[in-house]
Amino acid sequence: MKYAPTIGLEIHAELKTKSKMFCDSKNDPNETRPNQNVCPVCLAHPGTLPTINKQAVEHVIRVGLALGGKINPVSKFDRKNYFYPDLPKGYQISQYDQPLVFGGMLQGVRIRRIHLEEDTGRLLHESRVKGHESSLVDFNRAGVPLMELVTEPDITSPEQASAFARELQLILRYLNVSDADMELGQMRVEANVSIQDPRWKFKEEPKSGVSLWIFSGDGSKEVPLNDRVELKNINSFRAMEDAVRYELKRHEEVLEAGGVISQETRGWDEAKQKSVVQRTKEDAHDYRYFPEPDLPPFETSFFDLEKLKNGLPELPAEKRERFANEYGLNEIQAATIVGEPALANYFEEAVSELKGKNPMASVLTLFNYLTSDIRGLVNERGIILQDTKVNPEHLAHLVFLIESGKLTSRQAKDMLAKMFMRDEDPEDILADESMYAISDSIELETIAQLILQENPNAVEDYRKGKTASLQFLIGKSMAKLKGKGNPEILKEILLKLLK
Ligand code: ADP
Ligand code: MG
Repeated sequence: MKYAPTIGLEIHAELKTKSKMFCDSKNDPNETRPNQNVCPVCLAHPGTLPTINKQAVEHVIRVGLALGGKINPVSKFDRKNYFYPDLPKGYQISQYDQPLVFGGMLQGVRIRRIHLEEDTGRLLHESRVKGHESSLVDFNRAGVPLMELVTEPDITSPEQASAFARELQLILRYLNVSDADMELGQMRVEANVSIQDPRWKFKEEPKSGVSLWIFSGDGSKEVPLNDRVELKNINSFRAMEDAVRYELKRHEEVLEAGGVISQETRGWDEAKQKSVVQRTKEDAHDYRYFPEPDLPPFETSFFDLEKLKNGLPELPAEKRERFANEYGLNEIQAATIVGEPALANYFEEAVSELKGKNPMASVLTLFNYLTSDIRGLVNERGIILQDTKVNPEHLAHLVFLIESGKLTSRQAKDMLAKMFMRDEDPEDILADESMYAISDSIELETIAQLILQENPNAVEDYRKGKTASLQFLIGKSMAKLKGKGNPEILKEILLKLLK
């Protein structure tokens, strides 16, 4: 592309809190019955008043601290007015000029602000009521705390945009402030896209924070960025890249044909793989923002910011670096493990257990079993890692057995499958298995013949058609084998002898 792509993101995330943003209705994303978690406040009954959810404010402050942002000493809420049936008050309580967080940085992209607002209800279109096509509204989600992060237009490619969003998603998960699942709408990304003539060079206007472009030739002419198009309805990282790529190309075609792009909102049509106009130019003044009169401005010193900062968990970037240095993982391996908080915790527990048994043990063997075999079994069963019966300690013991030559890798696969069924240490399973692992048919046949001789009545009953006698004979043989016989082989042998 001969133009310079300019991309800025607006990312919303539903916060994990007990109750909603301004009332004590439950914030439960798993509620499937409509209009269960509602109350007069989130249904906008007259005379009701909002109260601020402390946990939600704390979540956003922690995100701000994690991204190196500045926490505003005084923050306030504002009303953003617009009409839509999923918004019962006719306005959304949001933050306009005093958001909780200003600034910050992630992957070299400057963060403009992070603020707190409330989610809307959900409209169910194409429902039928009394034979008529209708839309229904579910207010379970109305008033759920929503964080919005806005970046500066520092992103220059679709891939960089999705890498940024993925990393933010991971950070939200490590901070345990949001599950941030895009498919479930818990994280929603809007991409603002424009392209610039490459003869203009980027220049920062420090005071107002407005980005200008300066002609690189004589440096005399300043122009603002070309108008942006805001892309909505992006439901996955993949869709985000596709949408941005499509839009960049469309802008180029328009400019090349001598046209101009003017500010508008477009929706991404996943099926058609194209963007379609939703609405044209809309500005802040259209919303008639004004300070929320029912909530006074508040001081963030109410929170112990120092303590919140010190209490932040290790963030994914640091974790990847530490895993690479400490455990000798390469970049991709470290990213794989760190890409899921549960996997990273599991891995570290298992590594420490393994190192406890043998400080020289290979972490790579452990990595391989965890990321291929265990994850394979987990995915196959459609469960999550925490639900397996294989705990980190047991996995470490398995690797130890392999490394010390007590188990071949072939046996290890069988062992893992067994470990998946029962909550047992592989060392115990191994001991156990050698107890009843008599699979030698000659040995089993000798015992079986003896049992048949000792129990002529049962043999006769069986031959007369009393199939239950077989179970009796298996039991007798097993008792003689002290439970060590392989039951399937034993049964086959008995069946053969009884013919
Ligand atoms: P607002 O939505 O409050 O009017 P802006 O329009 O300035 O704020 O910015 C909204 C988002 O669009 C931000 O993420 C910003 O980085 C991005 N953005 C602003 N201008 C452009 C542009 N010309 N090209 C691409 N992205 C832009
Ligand atoms: Mg905006």
